[in-house]
This record gives sequence, structure tokens and C-alpha cells, in this order.
Amino acid sequence: MPELPEVETVRRGLMQISVNQRFTGAEILLRKTLAYPTDPDHFLGAIQGLVIQDWQRRGKYLLGKLSDGSILGIHLRMTGKFLWTTPDVPVQKHTRLRFFLEGDRELRFVDLRTFGQIWWVPAGTIVESVITGLTRLGVEPLSPDFTADVLATCCEKRQRPMKTFLLDQSIVTGLGNIYADEALFKSGIHPTRKASSLKMSEIEKLHKAIVEVLETSIAQGGTTFSDFVSTTGTNGNYGGMALTYGRTGEPCRVCSHPIERIKLGGRSTHFCPQCQG
Ligand SMILES: [Zn+2]
Repeated sequence: MPELPEVETVRRGLMQISVNQRFTGAEILLRKTLAYPTDPDHFLGAIQGLVIQDWQRRGKYLLGKLSDGSILGIHLRMTGKFLWTTPDVPVQKHTRLRFFLEGDRELRFVDLRTFGQIWWVPAGTIVESVITGLTRLGVEPLSPDFTADVLATCCEKRQRPMKTFLLDQSIVTGLGNIYADEALFKSGIHPTRKASSLKMSEIEKLHKAIVEVLETSIAQGGTTFSDFVSTTGTNGNYGGMALTYGRTGEPCRVCSHPIERIKLGGRSTHFCPQCQG
């Protein structure tokens, strides 16, 4: 499943290829992909002739700014990805939506599991009123709003284990299973510790670790691509250098104690019992 670094990699890819391109049309192959407006003709009429000006990311939502002030929202969910191609290339299986652009270019949305969603939000409309999932997102970990003090406030009075706390998108948005485990290891915090039990010095370490882990992963994701606007490979790239994730039974890279795995909130959690207190 694409996590924050993968979605950020896609955003950077879309910035490179699609900015200043004009939509000449689109074809909707799976109606359920269209979250709003649900009427395909309404959607097609709305984006026709508009130019893509910018791509932003909020959590795992991609938000494309169009030339009339409207927004194209995309959530890749489990398996959504983009293919940058030309209309003459045969349409492969699982293609759900085709965007045609000037200069005989095409951006294809391919989505095996069909959970991906696309919205068009008219200019002047509050984006959150259409893409309601945006209202449930917490602080953006790579934004200036995310500070050790903000994290400390979030930890206050929360009795949940740290791992569950970090996975809650309404607190810090975009941290998935891998990055939560890695950040807790880097900051020496045991995944079962209660959020409210953390000392300020630990919160400062954790804050730094979260940012580092995400930035490292984004850097590994690369910014070049040929066909697919990469949503895969980042986990794989990070996997090779993971400190705990997926390393159950293998020696800790710091102290050599075997990495252990437990379930927390239904998710596999990897940690070093010696390094994380
Ligand atoms: Zn260790």
C-alpha cells in the first residue's frame, strides 16, 4: 500500500511530467473510481480545456490545482498508480481512467483493487466538503507545523501504545507500519510505551526520527521514471536498509540482539527489546 513517501514520490513525478499540460478529454472506464462528481459527463465537461498548474499532497491525498481554480483530488488507496503514456499504447488491464493531454500525451490511472478514488472540486468550494477524508487528517509530519512541541501536546493524556498512536492518521498523518517501527527504533522507544509516559527528551528524539525516516525514504524513491509514475519500489528500497521492519529474528544493527515481533492494534510490530526501553 502506498504510504506517505510513495505518494510524495508520485507527487514529484506528476510535477515533472504534467504541470502546464492541458486536458483535452478523458475516458472513464470504471465509474466507481469517480468519487465526485459521480456523473461521468459532468466530470468530463468540468476538466476539459483546463491546465494543470500544481500538485500538492495532504497526507496520502494528491491535490492537483487546475487553471480555473478547481482541484483534482486523487487517493491511490491500496493499488492505484499512474502511467504516463500516449493514447496509441494499448490500454492494459485494470485501467480505470484515462486523462488525455495536449501534445498526444496520456495519464492513465491503473488500479487493480479498485479502491482508488478521484474527485473534481469546483473553484470556490471548500475542498474538505467534497473530499471529506481530509478533515480527519492530523498534523503533516514534513510541514513546518510538525514540531517537537506539537508532538508533545499530541502525546499528552493519550494512554495508547506508541505504535498505535503513530499509526493514527488523525494525530500525525501519513506514518504507516514500516515508518512507525523505524522511527520508534531510531528514537529508542519501546512500541508498547504509553504516549503519555514519554519524556520531552524522548519526544524530541522521536520527532527528529519521524522526519528522518520519511525523508530518507522519499530520497530512495527517486525522482526519475520512464513509464509508471512510481508508487512502488520505495518500500523495497527502504526495505534493504530497514533497521527493524521485516527483520524478525535477525540481529539488531546496533546491539546484535535478535529483532522481535509482536502484534499491536492488529499490526505486526518489529523492535529491539534491548535498544528500545
Ligand atoms: Zn538493539
